[in-house]
Amino acid sequence: MENKHASEHLLEIKNLRTSFFTNNGEVKAVNDVSFHVDKGEVVAIVGESGCGKSVTQMSIMQLVQSPPGKILGGEVNFDGRNLLEYSSNSPEMRAVRGAEIAMIFQEPMTSLNPIITVGNQLVEVLRTHNKQLGKKEAFKQAAAALENVGIPDPVARLKNYPFEMSGGMRQRVMIANAVACNSKLIIADEPTTALDVTTQAQVMELLMDIVNKNQIALIVITHNLGLVNRYADRIYVMYAGKIVESGTTEELLKRPKHPYTIGLLESVPRLDGQTDEQLVPIQGSPPNLAQLPDHCAFMPRCKYACELCRNKPIPELRKSSGDEHFVACHLNIDEVNE
Ligand code: SF4
Repeated sequence: MENKHASEHLLEIKNLRTSFFTNNGEVKAVNDVSFHVDKGEVVAIVGESGCGKSVTQMSIMQLVQSPPGKILGGEVNFDGRNLLEYSSNSPEMRAVRGAEIAMIFQEPMTSLNPIITVGNQLVEVLRTHNKQLGKKEAFKQAAAALENVGIPDPVARLKNYPFEMSGGMRQRVMIANAVACNSKLIIADEPTTALDVTTQAQVMELLMDIVNKNQIALIVITHNLGLVNRYADRIYVMYAGKIVESGTTEELLKRPKHPYTIGLLESVPRLDGQTDEQLVPIQGSPPNLAQLPDHCAFMPRCKYACELCRNKPIPELRKSSGDEHFVACHLNIDEVNE
């Protein structure tokens, strides 16, 4: 496999912080998050619902609803610019959204406009980002975009409303929308969750085909470790608004070091595991992000928690084994398990 990590960072997030100011206090949804994505790389952000993974991506796109949300600090360096220097509604930011960075959402029925045909929606995307494009040529390109994502009879399908299509076909339209403007980065937020298993595989294969062919970088937000294992080059594990472990897919799945990652892996069946293997769910529930403790947030659920974890401040990411493996835990779990 070619070394994708040799290239410069296409996206580099530094110390990103996003909070929601509610009646119950400040909800620290993204709490000092840093990560990067290289050109043509597939990166997975993994974690339970409410861990901050979707808010991180919405912050990159400046789509966090304000109020109550607010990006409090950090940098979103994309292709040589810090996007946080632009306001959410600035022409610069509008030019980035859709054209340079595209998003594919979990449920296409709620992200496609139900009262506009898919053809008109695609044409709008194409013409918004290319003012010179005539209507006739835009429809031609829209039909080509549908054909590109494997939709048969694309010219006729342009006249369909989203409800006239199956879930899998709607998700293909979302992919067509995302790649229509030659984006450099696609953010796919749980792209296959709403689909049946067979369609999930087809949609993911199609997406991977397109990103590989066009050297597009892809961030997949998911809780599906099977999907991560198959498609991602690197993984970031998020818990309570922070990244608690990161590494190459191979290293992190074979040698997880953070008790939360270990718990995630123990709670799903593995293809290489024993057939009578017991699945162990992670006990408890994620913390209230409005009342985070000043020590490790995973402590109430962690089977390795000890006095040290209680007395020390929140653990920072530190280098573990392997060049790109980082973990935020006070203990060396390998030593504890010996
Ligand atoms: Fe568990 Fe302690 Fe590590 Fe937190 S710091 S994950 S409580 S062992």
